[in-house]
Amino acid sequence: MKLTFSEALQQSTPAFPVGVEVVTTRGIDAGQMCRFAQDLLRDDRIGWISVTDNPGGNPMLPPDYLAGQLADSAKNTVVHLTCKDNNRLALESQLWRYAAEGFCNILALSGDLPAAGYPKCGASVFDFDSAALLAMMRDMNAGLKVPGRRGNIETLPETSFFAGCTVSPFKKNENELVPQYAKLLKKVRAGAGWVIPQLGYDMRKFAEIKRLLQLNNVNIPLIGNVYVLTKTAAKMFNSGRLAGCVVSGSLLAEIEKYAAGADKGKTFFQELAAKQLAVFQGLGFSAGYLGGVAKPEDVFAIIEKLKQFAADDWKMFYKEIRYPQQDEFYYYDENVLTAAQPVPTLRKRTRNVNLFYRFSRCVHALAFNRGHQLYPLMKRIFAFWEQKHCVCKTCMKTVHRIEEMSKHILYGCKDCGDCALPDTAYLCPMSQCSKNMRNGPCGGSLHSRCEADDKDCIWTIAYDRLKYFGDWEAFCNTDVSCADAALQGTSSWANLYADRDHSAVKK
Ligand code: SF4
Repeated sequence: MKLTFSEALQQSTPAFPVGVEVVTTRGIDAGQMCRFAQDLLRDDRIGWISVTDNPGGNPMLPPDYLAGQLADSAKNTVVHLTCKDNNRLALESQLWRYAAEGFCNILALSGDLPAAGYPKCGASVFDFDSAALLAMMRDMNAGLKVPGRRGNIETLPETSFFAGCTVSPFKKNENELVPQYAKLLKKVRAGAGWVIPQLGYDMRKFAEIKRLLQLNNVNIPLIGNVYVLTKTAAKMFNSGRLAGCVVSGSLLAEIEKYAAGADKGKTFFQELAAKQLAVFQGLGFSAGYLGGVAKPEDVFAIIEKLKQFAADDWKMFYKEIRYPQQDEFYYYDENVLTAAQPVPTLRKRTRNVNLFYRFSRCVHALAFNRGHQLYPLMKRIFAFWEQKHCVCKTCMKTVHRIEEMSKHILYGCKDCGDCALPDTAYLCPMSQCSKNMRNGPCGGSLHSRCEADDKDCIWTIAYDRLKYFGDWEAFCNTDVSCADAALQGTSSWANLYADRDHSAVKK
């Protein structure tokens, strides 16, 4: 009998199962997609299928619709769950439905920016990010504690989600890559039970993820991600239009050569995919994963090619599949598999470490730092102003007005009431990050620019600043945070002093 997804990944010596991505469709014509999924699951060579959730920000049939069509397939199906178009209530509700239907294998993603909708582009939500979503599943697995009707705390039945996450190692610059790795470790601490890196064609970067987890004593299954290219897909990945998926100029040049052949490069693409799987197997990844294929016979052809390789061939392929971007930054040196620590980097005073940042740090250290001697006094003053007395109410309103105006001018503050500025090196995630990311970057930046391409990614700036002042390690160890919507439109200063905001948890 076929092992379930979690059993296959967690065996003491995994047999390198291979999973396949199934992309849902827009509209009700789901026949072809269902047949593809059924044919795959019927074959013993395929360990599981993984069903996308509105990929590329386009509205599609939900993943559990397809999964529900496949009898007894729940344990061999991974459903993707993204935060782009659901707030935390909708995400929780979705998770209860998945748990009730037996879909426990969830890939938690922040998600792409919405790209389409009826009649025009939809608004994005990003109330949560992938780290917060993972933390919610971890807490649901432990029995979610919720307020009961009589003011007591009730514990809901435990779920058994086997949640996974992604990481995007194909970043060109240090200030993009290091935050990606930090966020991966944060997601693991938030409950990720397996990891699947984003797409790229430089095996050294995949080896880095393996080493990063090893050196941080993280022993969870790692799945090698392969996208079976076509010339069209390669051009799209090269243009940066698909967040987190990278085809470098040197690979594109090679692809154009092969694509001019009689089979349009199909043999080359399938061989490249099989070689990538061989490298993953050789590096000790628990499983492989194929995307970009629409016919079962193409999937099987790649798996058969993989079987034909000799045991040590992967070492040659590891050296061969190296298509980095120009001047790409690596976290470990060339001997990544034996590296004891990351390559040392300098604390650089970039243009991001400016006077304005220094000013913000000083103000925070004086007035809002729990360890400062002024803090207890400020706490008492704000507690006094928060009394119901009408004079105090006027004082509080005036203070809130001053806060709102000054922070709006200085930081583009949106008055969320649950201020993240000290965590994010004084860059407001509500106004300056297209996805409101509070726990580290999404996977979408390209050459340090935001996926929305209208600004630098705030996390690249935050990294430069925090690293320069030696605060990066401390940021990496912070808990997962998310804004409390109930505080919107209230004074974040008052909320800090009254321990109502996210930072109160850290005490
Ligand atoms: S600013 Fe950075 S984290 Fe925010 S959406 Fe853009 S790329 Fe993602």
